[in-house]
Amino acid sequence: MNLWGYLFGSKRKDGAPLPQIFFTDTLSGKKEIFVSQRPGLVLMYTCGPTMYGPAHIGNLRPYMLSDTAVRALTEAGYQVRRVINITDFGHLVTDGDSGEDKMTKGLRREKLALTMENMRTMAEKYTMVFIDDLAALNIDVEHISFPRASDYVSEQIAFIKTLEQKGYAYRTKDGVYYDTSRFIGYGKLGGIALESQQEGARMKAYSEKRNPADFVLWKPDPRLGWESPWGRGFPGWHIECSTMSRSLLGQELDIHMGGEDLIAIHHNNEIAQSEAISGRTFVHYWMHNAFLTMGGEKASKSVGNVVYLSDVKEKGFHPLALRYFFLQAHYRTPLSFSWDALAAAASALERLWKLSSEVAEEAGRTSAPSEARDQFLAAVRDDLATPQALGILWDSLKSDEYAPEEKWGLLEDAEAHFGLCLLNPPVTKARALAELPADIRELVARREKARTSKDFEEADRLRKELGDRGYHVEDSPDGPVIKSL
Ligand code: AMP
Ligand code: ZN
Repeated sequence: MNLWGYLFGSKRKDGAPLPQIFFTDTLSGKKEIFVSQRPGLVLMYTCGPTMYGPAHIGNLRPYMLSDTAVRALTEAGYQVRRVINITDFGHLVTDGDSGEDKMTKGLRREKLALTMENMRTMAEKYTMVFIDDLAALNIDVEHISFPRASDYVSEQIAFIKTLEQKGYAYRTKDGVYYDTSRFIGYGKLGGIALESQQEGARMKAYSEKRNPADFVLWKPDPRLGWESPWGRGFPGWHIECSTMSRSLLGQELDIHMGGEDLIAIHHNNEIAQSEAISGRTFVHYWMHNAFLTMGGEKASKSVGNVVYLSDVKEKGFHPLALRYFFLQAHYRTPLSFSWDALAAAASALERLWKLSSEVAEEAGRTSAPSEARDQFLAAVRDDLATPQALGILWDSLKSDEYAPEEKWGLLEDAEAHFGLCLLNPPVTKARALAELPADIRELVARREKARTSKDFEEADRLRKELGDRGYHVEDSPDGPVIKSL
């Protein structure tokens, strides 16, 4: 924590003191009051996905976390500078320097030759999908930097060279390694005792490693990669985050985020690299999200229990239903995904939209302060307690204690923190369909069933029947759209 900021407090540009915000820091293991290094400015880095396929909805959870934190900080008066890196080339080694590289796997899946050009093209394709997915979740992508690791190779080489000059790196026939025994306090984040017990296997594969936890900084490859003082090859996976965060945000970050699987190795390695060079605290607040699980297990491509945002949309859900689903759980709690749970979130959001439309009308979109607003802000500022904040929102909207203007004021705050389109709810198909008479809905459903089971004759007959009743059906990529004639 920044002592100066702690003693003297941070001020907004208008001179008003910033409200207190608390975050749980993985390093101290405690909930801490947040103080930025520079008054009113927050430097935030979130580890990005590897672009070997579309990001599954579990992969999206860290960016929901950073977006929720950004909204809370921005509403409190901070300016936030944020970076999400894009891992767009393979390292021919994984997290623990063993197994197959994800990008190589991705190219094989797409039946593409292992070339640098194909790697970059595949990565760009999935980067676009990723950014579109974030935008669909109402994450403000316009104000996020998405640096590509392949654009920072010379900086990564320079970083490794400095580590070598400072005596933190050594060469073996398998490449350049970081010497973790040289870094005092290595593994301080989350405690990696368990991890090092599993290192035996790695030690065998890379027998020239001096210590079990040592990790690769440069991996030679005679066929591919970039030229370097250590021959052609690739930077190790961990170095890109240390390098790009330094290039874009500086040597000390306020907040660094990612999924909890990154704590043991990746983030400890980032600390070892960055602090060896700067001699300063690399990150002041480490924040990690718990997993999204499916069928009791971490959702992951290797297990195969994954769902993509495209699946969510194909099933007719609004992407914001997924956003609502995420907000129902605290970021440090595992979140169990099922289609039923998503359907429940979707219908809750539909009800919220309906309620907010009513309040908009009653209050004429004028807002007033209330105790509920204070409680709501206290909840989101208390380590982003979104489930509690949602509870306060629901209770207050349903209560007779609050005037419509007070409810509208609360909705304005809720929208700023949640990004659920509460102030201008979209007209969704579910709502439009729900507003049709029951017998018409029944005809639409029967026609949809006939159409999906390719009984086009029956589908056409039902379309005609609907037409006779005054309703016109159009098929769109995400379901039928009904218009009254
Ligand atoms: P990767 O592409 O595997 O590097 O993952 C990108 C981000 O998603 C990292 O921050 C991971 O920690 C996170 N992540 C991966 N799987 C899950 C999951 N099932 N639930 C939550 N976060 C995850
Ligand atoms: Zn990282």
